[in-house]
Amino acid sequence: MMAQYLEIKAEHEGALLFYRMGDFYEMFFDDAVAAAEALDIALTKRGKHDGNDIPMCGVPHHAAEGYFLTLIRKGFRVAVCEQMESPAEAKKRGHKSVVRREVVRLVTPGTLTEDSLLEARRHNYLAAFAEVRDAQALAWVDISTGAFHVMPLPLVRLGPELARLSPSELVVSESKEGELRGLVADFDIALTELSRASFDSTSAEKRICELFSIATLDAFGNFSRAEVSAMGALINYLEITQKGKLPLLRPPQKENEARTVQIDAATRRNLELTHGLNGGRAGSLLGLMDRTQTAAGARLLERRISSPSRVSQTIGRRLDAVSYAFENSRLRQDVRDTLRKTPDLDRALSRLALDRGGPRDLAAIRNGLAEAERLAQQTQGSALPELMQDAAKGLVGHDALITLLEEALIAEPPLLARDGGFIASGFDSELDESRKLRDEGRSVIAAMQVQFVSDTGISALKIKHNNVLGYFIETTATHAEKMLSPPLSEKFIHRQTTANQVRFTTVELSEMETKILNAGNHALEIEKRLYEKLRGAILERSAEIGVTSTGIAEVDLAFALAELAAVENWVRPKVDDSRAFNIEGGRHPVVERALSQQSGDPFIANHCDLTAERGANIWLLTGPNMAGKSTFLRQNALIALMAQMGSFVPATSAHIGIVSQLFSRVGASDDLARGRSTFMVEMVETAAILNQADDRALVILDEIGRGTATYDGLSIAWATLEHLHDVNKSRALFATHYHEMTGLSAKLDGVDNATVAVKEWEGEVIFLHEVRKGAADRSYGVQVAQLAGLPDSVIARARVVLEALEKGEREGGAKQKTLIDDLPLFSAIPAPAPQPVKTSAVEEKLKEVSPDELTPREALDLLYKLKEAA
Ligand code: ADP
Repeated sequence: MMAQYLEIKAEHEGALLFYRMGDFYEMFFDDAVAAAEALDIALTKRGKHDGNDIPMCGVPHHAAEGYFLTLIRKGFRVAVCEQMESPAEAKKRGHKSVVRREVVRLVTPGTLTEDSLLEARRHNYLAAFAEVRDAQALAWVDISTGAFHVMPLPLVRLGPELARLSPSELVVSESKEGELRGLVADFDIALTELSRASFDSTSAEKRICELFSIATLDAFGNFSRAEVSAMGALINYLEITQKGKLPLLRPPQKENEARTVQIDAATRRNLELTHGLNGGRAGSLLGLMDRTQTAAGARLLERRISSPSRVSQTIGRRLDAVSYAFENSRLRQDVRDTLRKTPDLDRALSRLALDRGGPRDLAAIRNGLAEAERLAQQTQGSALPELMQDAAKGLVGHDALITLLEEALIAEPPLLARDGGFIASGFDSELDESRKLRDEGRSVIAAMQVQFVSDTGISALKIKHNNVLGYFIETTATHAEKMLSPPLSEKFIHRQTTANQVRFTTVELSEMETKILNAGNHALEIEKRLYEKLRGAILERSAEIGVTSTGIAEVDLAFALAELAAVENWVRPKVDDSRAFNIEGGRHPVVERALSQQSGDPFIANHCDLTAERGANIWLLTGPNMAGKSTFLRQNALIALMAQMGSFVPATSAHIGIVSQLFSRVGASDDLARGRSTFMVEMVETAAILNQADDRALVILDEIGRGTATYDGLSIAWATLEHLHDVNKSRALFATHYHEMTGLSAKLDGVDNATVAVKEWEGEVIFLHEVRKGAADRSYGVQVAQLAGLPDSVIARARVVLEALEKGEREGGAKQKTLIDDLPLFSAIPAPAPQPVKTSAVEEKLKEVSPDELTPREALDLLYKLKEAA
């Protein structure tokens, strides 16, 4: 056995080998040590290898899925090695034969399909990046849904795309691995290297054609060599990990970067689009917006938020669908009720295709298709917007399959096909008969017992069953004599004698037993055959089922966005190809929700107009910390993004000319993991914006230059704003605490000042969160610090310093340097409680002196006296 183990292990160096032994998966050697530690399970020993103990650990096979997940999260991959025959079969080959085993699957982050290992409402992408000569491309699949995409992608854009898709695994060629490791480390992505051969574009083309049974790739469109290479590498990796069982993939769709808003990784993070600060959905825009009823709808929503459109026609189509769902609230209720009952067709389909499914997946398809029919009936009529009409077309046409599944399956089938019991009675007469035989066996045997009692005249005779003997006749030792002697002994065959019982069988009984046993096995076999038949019938229509699932997702999303808009009081934005940006009464949806949940304070709605024709395309926003600058900046970016994904928006009205790129530099947090200082990160991100933003970009910049000395920071912020205005000509919101900059609006046409209003009351600030035109008068930093609970002595000291600094500023820069020296020397030590002061003799004397009345001579005399007294 060890020889077999080592042989298999040698082929799977990079993975932990889960070696199936009966009801357990066992791990040995280094694998055992690593797994025991990662899974926190006991490490034991088993036998010796080269004279040393072999470390071993194991997990029960029925609980393996949970362990897979833990291991994958910790960066391992797992090779699952199964027994391919029973010990009995192995014995037949020779009495010392080891059971034949094979690795049936490699479990990696990007190739999961089990519901328990996946987040139902998120995609799980596996991506591959390829380079052929000077061109690069990215391809990605979700094998749990069959989605398959590809796009040309220069290396510099890889980071942003990885941020958009957040795949769980990226496959690259061994020659590129070193170069990409650093980049990928920024994201939570497992990096897998494949041989160069896997990326060969000629064999890649063959692989793709074979997978989709097409003669030439042209059937799917035009692809560059790099794109073909990336797709081929993905398919090759699936062949390797799925051991030949290929998942159902939809034909590759070419994505066009020019059709979606470009958003870089930093902006996604800053705006918390799909992941909140803690990395999960909570606190993210996605978490807030998700009212979908189906998992497919939720996944579509995530795709839309990650990739808002910049084609006004597409956006209009989506908004039309949401409007329709918004206006028909009764219908919305009905449709959402139907959707709630609709299972995840995509994932059931993918499990069936990979032969990892069970009767429950058959039932999911049955229920899903039936609900889709209902949905089609609900979404009818000439008033239906185009998008819904298109979606509804794909919902029907499965009558035959639905009927088949409805007739074949019981209402709630078990998870595993192995134990049978999922085919409905009345579907297959042979199965019904076998089941009847099996089930009726009991009553047949009961009838036999009655017969035997009358045949023998022994009323204490019983027919019993155990696992060793099967069915047997049992009687007490006293009665047994009669049965052991002729004529009864001719019929009753002795099997066993225990302390006070004797056991018999008859030819008739053992024949009956075999029949019952066979009937049970036969029934199981028939069920398995029928399972395969149903599975085949489903897979034959996989493409159509895929279309249905897409339709369900579209309908679900439109109705979910309408529900959101109705509940949250959002409006339909106007999106066109102009350069307008005018939001009236805009709100930040996530902050608004947080406020209502925490303090119950209302969110103050604010206007924002960056339409150049109406004044300015850049707003320079000043105001104290905590006033709401960041919130205002983000809310406008989010509203533009929501509008372009085809959603209503949290505002009273919004007019947005297509935004092609979205940039944000918000807040500063040290990025020590990447070894860059806050200031460096800030400058790198600002550089990216100034180099890339064009006149269709929307830029939000918050506190640029905060990370360095005041004058450095001010100069950088100043120059950045000028560049945005003169060169980039983007629509922009620029928040700063450098009041000096507010003078720029007089100089630059496209720049307006705005401020978030505060009120000062009894020395404290009150935040009004109201954005008004004009500049802030002061920054109220000390008041904010006081609100934050800084010790009184620190606040008092800060007021003194501030006053001195402001005075210095008023009196001209030259004095600034000496200013610090002029400050009173007492500092942030808590002021001591006032004590009765003991005055000296000199002080007593001084008190009596009034200098105005002294002549110079008297003054000199006084000085001598004081000197004496000291
Ligand atoms: P700044 O960027 O000016 O320091 P923030 O945008 O971080 O301020 O806002 C600080 C806090 O003020 C937020 O956490 C939120 O609770 C509250 N806030 C901001 N804007 C509003 C608003 N428009 N209405 C109500 N509360 C707001």
